[in-house]
Amino acid sequence: MSQETHRFGTNCIHAGQSPDPTTGAIMTPVYMTSTFVQKSPGVFKDGYDYARSKNPTRQALEDNLAALEGGTVGLAFSSGLAAMDCVLHQLRAGDHVVLSDDVYGGSFRQMDKVFRHMNMSYTRVDMTKLAEIEKAMTPKTRAVWLETPSNPMLKVIDIPGVRKLVDSAKVSDLGTTDKSIGPLGSPLEKPLLVVDNTFASPYLQNPLAHGADVVLHSCTKYIGGHSDMVAGALITKDEALGERLKYVQNAVGAVPGAMDCFLMLRSTKTLHLRMQRHCENAMKIAQWLEQHSKIEKVIYPGLASHPQHALAKKQMRNGFGGMISCVVKGGLEPSRKVLEKTKLFSLAESLGGVESLIEHPAIMTHASVPAPARAILGIADGLIRLSVGCEDVEDLTSDLDHALA
Ligand SMILES: *Cc1c(COP(=O)(O)O)cnc(C)c1O
Repeated sequence: MSQETHRFGTNCIHAGQSPDPTTGAIMTPVYMTSTFVQKSPGVFKDGYDYARSKNPTRQALEDNLAALEGGTVGLAFSSGLAAMDCVLHQLRAGDHVVLSDDVYGGSFRQMDKVFRHMNMSYTRVDMTKLAEIEKAMTPKTRAVWLETPSNPMLKVIDIPGVRKLVDSAKVSDLGTTDKSIGPLGSPLEKPLLVVDNTFASPYLQNPLAHGADVVLHSCTKYIGGHSDMVAGALITKDEALGERLKYVQNAVGAVPGAMDCFLMLRSTKTLHLRMQRHCENAMKIAQWLEQHSKIEKVIYPGLASHPQHALAKKQMRNGFGGMISCVVKGGLEPSRKVLEKTKLFSLAESLGGVESLIEHPAIMTHASVPAPARAILGIADGLIRLSVGCEDVEDLTSDLDHALA
């Protein structure tokens, strides 16, 4: 099915999928198989030899995700962090990464603990200031890693602006080429611009169109959308990079099972519908919270009060997402009470499901960030983060109103 000719919602439902050739089943079957029978040794159908390398359910999902992000290569992983691992394996010992200062905690841990151990280094900067990124880049920088909107401060980063910096980067000391180790044998010739698009989802933003080399998703969040699975994805339109990433996907092997791929395919069919409701609800709740006497500050990219509101309007489409952060007046204790008292908003980490969640970054998701660093990021003790779901918005505001009373 040609994807270019269709719009986003149509692609959500159809891209990558066609009736099953065996029976005409309209839904892509769950191919629960580890291997495929060969006609003659080394002669197999459509590249299907072993399910780590290729599985038809996963292939349909990967093609679907590639279409939604405007890429040509989609790759599915067993988690968002497995997808990150695949990107970082494109780098070499001694390479340097520029990371946004409030990058997802698990992404930071992987960089800081797993890859630092492999003699890679990183610098964290406030990416709302392009000059800081430029200052942090060295001739050894091989990746610039950002999330927009970020977590939990919902900072919006100018992707085309970062692209320009990456293009003008002075890259030294490329290292040797060793064809004997396949696609990974050639050094990266310029830094990869990696955009973690988890918070926006492809419905709101397509980073490849703004200059990203590769887009990462924790599909655990909006793409899965139902809080019932853990998965990740990478999408690129750079064929050579796609080949490298695919090589590692297969060689390291952190692939999702067929059932999870089926669940994700079912989920992306409603991505545009869910996101529309997430955005509408979040906008109403953000405006309502801004008027609330117990709330000190609301952070939502759709509000005129957001420091990068103009950039968000330019870079995002259809809305501003389902994530809101706000500061409850009085600090830790009053905010703790709110989290204990909500009923519809469940107290839990994670985000992006149809049901609303509430969490306390300083105590929960960002507890591992030392207090002084939290203060610099703006993660106040009274800060709470809402993942606004798809319920009726009046029920959500009355739940919050009751909890804030
Ligand atoms: C959850 C999350 C991840 C990690 O994904 P997992 O699926 O939990 O491995 C990465 N980035 C962001 C922005 C996330 O929210």
